[in-house]
Amino acid sequence: QTAIITGAASGIGSAVAQSFAAEGCNVVLADVDESGIKDVSIQCQSIYNHSSSIVKSNSDKHQNCVVKGVICDVTDENHVKHLFREADDLASSLSKVSSSSQEDCNSSSLSMASSSSNPSIASILVNCAGITRDTLFSTMSLHDFEKVLDVNLKGTFLTCKEFCLPHRLEQLSLDYCCYSTDKNHILKTKSQDKKNTDTNVITRTKRGGGGSIVNIGSIISQSGNVGQANYAASKGGVLSFTTSLAKEMSIRHDGIVRANTVLPGFIETPMSEAVPDHIKERMRG
Ligand code: NAD
Repeated sequence: QTAIITGAASGIGSAVAQSFAAEGCNVVLADVDESGIKDVSIQCQSIYNHSSSIVKSNSDKHQNCVVKGVICDVTDENHVKHLFREADDLASSLSKVSSSSQEDCNSSSLSMASSSSNPSIASILVNCAGITRDTLFSTMSLHDFEKVLDVNLKGTFLTCKEFCLPHRLEQLSLDYCCYSTDKNHILKTKSQDKKNTDTNVITRTKRGGGGSIVNIGSIISQSGNVGQANYAASKGGVLSFTTSLAKEMSIRHDGIVRANTVLPGFIETPMSEAVPDHIKERMRG
């Protein structure tokens, strides 16, 4: 699979990217920090090289992990569109799904697409891009407030929006289906109904997976924190936005995309370096 990770040049995003690379996933590193992207790109390639023997001995389905860096400001819609074009081009070029594998599927009672086939578009999005502008509320400027909302919430909205465009949902649905003539295995989907009116003969069958969005929220959205009214508001927005998106994807789109928020506590990264030591101690406790 191909995963897009925003904020991949540092901290949590960098660790997420390296974990995906270790599993043989293709990773697209998106960040405003060009030199950080280059460093993480090298780390991903190296970690994949070290773990590839383990991965390959377990299964031959993993292809080489491909790492691509894209300079992207998640608050800029054009940057986000460019990011997805780059990621989908990469996934498409690596995709092994061919018309011949679909013909194979059609000829058997229940055939899965080849296990070595890759989705033809990026199917994972992890939103780690984030900033803080900590200051007491009495001194918080509108700019401090808007800047944090822009990156943390609007950035999450823009990338999720691009991920869930109708043509991408349709492609994710196609990538995760196989064909069956066995009525016992029929699992109707809306897209199947459109494509295949004669469901008695050949029916597309869901084979799990689909797309997955993971948005990084924060425990601060639940607890609040002194000096972080802007940050807490942005992360509260991420949580409720993602919950609504997950419901909509489940109810209106057959769950072809799952959306989840992770709420980390305090993690030592460049972002948390700005936190005074006595507060770090309190958070660790
Ligand atoms: P970090 O500062 O190490 O990494 C954040 C990355 O986001 C950086 O590489 C930065 O360049 C990038 N970024 C900033 N603005 C961007 C933009 N407009 N477009 C694209 N990239 C941009 O921070 P981190 O600790 O790794 O944080 C990652 C996520 O985890 C953030 O959303 C943060 O709010 C969240 N989080 C962190 C902690 C923690 O304790 N570190 C706790 C809870 C949640």
